[in-house]
Amino acid sequence: MNKSVRVRFAPSPTGHLHIGNVRTAILNWLFARHSGGAFILRIEDTDIERSTKVSEESILEDLHWLTLDWDEGPEKGGAFGPYRQSERLDLYQHYAQQLIASTKAYYCFCTESELEAARDNAMAQGGGQVHYSGKCRSLTPAQQAEARAKGIAPAIRFQVPAQAVSFTDLVKGELTFPENTFGDFVIVRSGGLPTYNFAAVIDDHLMNISHVIRGDDHVSNTPKQKLLYEAFGWDVPAFCHIPMILGEDRSRLSKRHGATSLDQFAEKGYLPEAIINFLSLLSWSSESGEEVLTIARLIKEFSFARINNSAAVFDTTKLNWMNGVYIRKLDPEQLVHRTAPFLRQAGYTLPDNDTLKALLVLLQESVEYLEQYVEKTAFFFGERIHLTDGAAIAMSQSEASEKVYWSFLRQLENVEDFTPGIFRDIMKTVNQETGVMGKDLWMPIRIALTGAMHGPDLPKLAALLGKERVRQMVLHIVE
Ligand code: GLU
Repeated sequence: MNKSVRVRFAPSPTGHLHIGNVRTAILNWLFARHSGGAFILRIEDTDIERSTKVSEESILEDLHWLTLDWDEGPEKGGAFGPYRQSERLDLYQHYAQQLIASTKAYYCFCTESELEAARDNAMAQGGGQVHYSGKCRSLTPAQQAEARAKGIAPAIRFQVPAQAVSFTDLVKGELTFPENTFGDFVIVRSGGLPTYNFAAVIDDHLMNISHVIRGDDHVSNTPKQKLLYEAFGWDVPAFCHIPMILGEDRSRLSKRHGATSLDQFAEKGYLPEAIINFLSLLSWSSESGEEVLTIARLIKEFSFARINNSAAVFDTTKLNWMNGVYIRKLDPEQLVHRTAPFLRQAGYTLPDNDTLKALLVLLQESVEYLEQYVEKTAFFFGERIHLTDGAAIAMSQSEASEKVYWSFLRQLENVEDFTPGIFRDIMKTVNQETGVMGKDLWMPIRIALTGAMHGPDLPKLAALLGKERVRQMVLHIVE
């Protein structure tokens, strides 16, 4: 059977998009684009206590920011909608009834407290995994009517056949779950809402999903889902479970490792193209061994065979390096466009476009994420330089530096405008006049203009500041 590729990203809108989910979305999208298939976005919002519209909106916003476009789903529509599970509840009911009619599922009237007591009891008897006893499997219609009369709203449980379940995972290979790995599980809760395993199967089938690509925290759900497909007599999609992402201490990536949701990375000025590249490489590698890969190449080279079967460590240093590479690839126009919001948010009044462009380009080499521009351009936007670095303070106060500053100020009297060339000429004259050379000549001026001992090209920077501001800054430090 040669089914066309249809994959889905199916987030539950219970918070911001976590970096692990982002990676799942990216791999699905890359595979869809690689194979000319469809990428479907489905919102799994049947957990009504935890799902919110705000989360759904933020997920869509995050996907837009990443530039992952979907072919069917919210905002887009499509032939297999609706794409929000809360709008498909009648479908789940319909299919649950079908399983009841074929005695593959049954009503369960056990209350939460009865189930808990049964679990406690079984634990006390011998511990281990405790499954549902199957108590309601064979209730007679009369017993069911009696329970209903008591006002108990039943759940619907799937009757798990006594058999082992195997499937071939595209990354993990053949996986087998022995008989009795789990008991009869709930497919529709007593309130009428489907459980994740049930709704996902119904939707993946009705939406013609060919490949289910998701995090390997779902591996233990897959045998349950496979049994459901078989109970309906439906084709089973291919499964691919991607290994989880670990923090640098090799524990599961979580909030205590720092930023873990996509919006936090966006707020710091990571670029979507860098995030896509970086997260793709967390589970996959190019045959060429190259690491900086355009989206076009990621799409072209995607293959399940190159997905790693071991957990990946989220290395922030590497992400920062890679983001820096992408920042340096931005042309000046793009650089301004993407950085301006960060500067405005810092309260800076932006200069004309050409000056801003020159300023940002000057610092482009040294920035790993755009938010760093706020601090790195503080000398330009601030009123005054505040020296905080002890070595810089000492240097600015040395005898040689004093000589340099006063000589420099005198030279400024002789020039009208200020270009990198004029600045260099001035420095030459200061050298001749004071006898101070090299680092001792340049560093005091750098400190006066930026407050730091390292930074971008000084003549260019001085030209950007302009003669009058340079004069003020040097005066400020000697006075
Ligand atoms: N809503 C599930 C989740 O966010 C989807 C899992 C799946 O892809 O089947 O984890």
